[in-house]
Amino acid sequence: MSRAEHGTPPPRSDAESHRLDVSDISGTPGATRAFAAEFDLQDLAVPLAAVTGPTCVRGVLEGILEGVVLVAEISADITETCRRCLEVRTRRVGVDVAELFAVGGDDDETYRLEDSTLDLDQCARDALALELPDAPLLCVGDPDACPNLGQLREHGFADRDDDEPDPRWAPLAAFYADPEKEQ
Ligand SMILES: [Zn+2]
Repeated sequence: MSRAEHGTPPPRSDAESHRLDVSDISGTPGATRAFAAEFDLQDLAVPLAAVTGPTCVRGVLEGILEGVVLVAEISADITETCRRCLEVRTRRVGVDVAELFAVGGDDDETYRLEDSTLDLDQCARDALALELPDAPLLCVGDPDACPNLGQLREHGFADRDDDEPDPRWAPLAAFYADPEKEQ
């Protein structure tokens, strides 16, 4: 887990946490510091997509009178399940953010800075949540990219309505229930 190879200054000792001590630069215009942090957001999920593996935040903190400006890239693996064929794939996403963490912030327009501690958790959640698709379709326009789809049709899954399918097929059943979406 060496970060030295990335050419940025080594992270502080709190780097395995989403909480950063910014007492050295908060409220001090002109003060800047590079940082890197890694923490777990694997509870961030929607029915067919989820953050998997560690979430990494890397960037620069800049002091301003109101608190600290964070300019960073938030990256994580997102694992998606295709709504049509249930194929599972993982892709890496990186989201660039520039956010103000203010003393007395309200978590509405700015994030809150408390006790000179900048908490990356909510900021990272907000950024990555936008990357989680409601209905992933990994094989659009290319049935061959969907190794499970042909098999499902072969076994007549789409025509079955006599008994309860495995609940994991529910998204697929919903898809076939709406003929507008097919083709
Ligand atoms: Zn698919």
